Amino acid sequence: MVPLIAQALDRAIAWRTGRRYPQHLAQYRAMERWTPEAFEAWRWERLRAQLDHAARTVPYWRETFARLGARPADFTRPEHLAALPATTKERINAAGDAMTSTQPEPGRVTRSSTGGSTGRNVWFLIDGEAHDRRRAAGRLTEEWDRVRPGTRTATIWGASLEQNPSRGAALYDRLTNRVFLSAYGVGPSELDAYAERLLRLRPEVISSYPSILLDLARRWGRDLCRRLGVRIIYCSAEALFEPVRAELEDLFGAVVRNRYACREFGMVAADCPLGGGLHLMDMRLFVEALPTAEDPELRELVLTDLDNRVMPLIRYRIEDLARPARGPCRCGRPFARMDLIEGRVLDVVTTPDGRSFGGTFFTLVLRPFDRSIRQFQVVQDRPDHLLVRLVPGPGYDGAARERVREVLAGTFGPALAVELREVDEIAPLASGKRRFVIRDLGRDERR
Ligand SMILES: [Zn+2]
Repeated sequence: MVPLIAQALDRAIAWRTGRRYPQHLAQYRAMERWTPEAFEAWRWERLRAQLDHAARTVPYWRETFARLGARPADFTRPEHLAALPATTKERINAAGDAMTSTQPEPGRVTRSSTGGSTGRNVWFLIDGEAHDRRRAAGRLTEEWDRVRPGTRTATIWGASLEQNPSRGAALYDRLTNRVFLSAYGVGPSELDAYAERLLRLRPEVISSYPSILLDLARRWGRDLCRRLGVRIIYCSAEALFEPVRAELEDLFGAVVRNRYACREFGMVAADCPLGGGLHLMDMRLFVEALPTAEDPELRELVLTDLDNRVMPLIRYRIEDLARPARGPCRCGRPFARMDLIEGRVLDVVTTPDGRSFGGTFFTLVLRPFDRSIRQFQVVQDRPDHLLVRLVPGPGYDGAARERVREVLAGTFGPALAVELREVDEIAPLASGKRRFVIRDLGRDERR
């Protein structure tokens, strides 16, 4: 179906079902031209309204404000927010229903969860209004790349794809030129079938996990990838490292855009079309970038949802690290920027002498080995021991192995022993995501 008709269909469905994302999208488009001062003032009002709502109607926050002897009206500057305790996954689980508003907005409420490892899984509620604003923010970032309903899009996802969408959803996907492929356990016959399907669709956009797409693209080869005619590749769900971005861009002859999203908040940040780093979705979120002990440039993100009234997440520790960029972006948008989303707080290797290394470090160090290492995974399983799993590629020999060991041992010093282990494959998580760096020192040391 041609994009204009798909867009009309999309608007008709929104109108028929009472969804408000077209209105929110129109507001966000207008905001892109606001001055930073006007935008900040608007955001601050949204934040104050959320604090007020939480203090009045959410038992956990009512009790927290009372304990601190604080009122939402006392919060007059962004720094004041730090007076409130951060919300951790453990705290949400302990609070239970006390995190839910006794006076939510009327309308549809959906229940979702973070997934994640046992014991750290969190359930939360999202109201219809927050849902629609999430969708509008996502749509806004797509418009930066001239991607709209009806743009031919292939989503190649991990294990979590719904296998049997409803008939309505399947029809909508067909009418709006969307194809979903599960990339879980793709053997040679699926690889050919997917290529055939994509050659028929000729997707302008591919949306995928970087590790999954790179694996498929290498197996297809550059000629086939280029024949698909892809214009934009959206990468999300995992940290996107520069060598992976460069290789995907070369294989497909397309532009790769990094997007950082999560179940709790939807889209959190998306690549600026002018290459200014990732823009935060400041119209939906109040993001604090708190200093970390290990590295002055590296910040821990703490997020407050400005929209969701049924279960307001305030000062939520998402457990991800980022490097903020300074100054306004040359695209002129008033949204703050991050240079890089480094990955999870827990997934940073720490040496006994107190230095820390995230995924970027390992990708850079292993870059010279390019294709002789197909995949790697670094696991710190003890304070003094690092296990490096490698899937060898062509040209990986004894000398390459020794150089990898030397460069890692030379960086970490004798206090952190490095063990290399060659394996046939590195299994993804149940969600289909890959983790490159894992710190697993046992429960006690994680807290
Ligand atoms: Zn920008």
